[in-house]
Amino acid sequence: METPLRIGVLAVQGNFREHAAMLRRPGVEPVEVRIPGQLEGLDGLVIPGGESTTFMRLMRLYGLDEAVRRFRAPVFGTCAGMIVLDRAHLGLVDILVDRNAYGRQVASFEADLEFAGADEPLRGVFIRAPRLREAGPDVEVLAEHDGEPVLLRDGRFLVASFHPELTDDTRVHERFLDLVREESGVRA
Ligand code: GLN
Repeated sequence: METPLRIGVLAVQGNFREHAAMLRRPGVEPVEVRIPGQLEGLDGLVIPGGESTTFMRLMRLYGLDEAVRRFRAPVFGTCAGMIVLDRAHLGLVDILVDRNAYGRQVASFEADLEFAGADEPLRGVFIRAPRLREAGPDVEVLAEHDGEPVLLRDGRFLVASFHPELTDDTRVHERFLDLVREESGVRA
């Protein structure tokens, strides 16, 4: 029997409940993380969408910024969670993004995205999404929209500028769980 994965969802702000619900579908019991001690023993962490300035403020207040920097397991950031992980914020993912960089008329939109390694496209829900400005040489692109990367992997990090937790397609979360299994297989 495989031991069930323990995946944390940063629950200081934003749509952590939707992520928790997505993780439950493939049988993972999500753990809401509000203080650094709750990161202990987790196999992975999700940083949801919300408002990145609020995230950064609350994370600093609770010491979660340093705790997430010390966390060694895979991390999945969506939208504001992607911003929080970039070079200009926690500096954990080798990307630089521009916040709210889609024009005002198209600040929020949906589009079908080709998903690397999958037969069916993904539905991308973009809400005042960040736009990738730069990515380091080791960053792998898993989906694009109009030629711009919107789902990327950098080692144990997965980042999406859209909101897979707002659809009922669990494939991006499952891809993250594959990454978690790969990494925890190394530890097992
Ligand atoms: N616009 C938000 C920010 O800059 C991100 C939006 C989202 O997470 N849906 O933090």
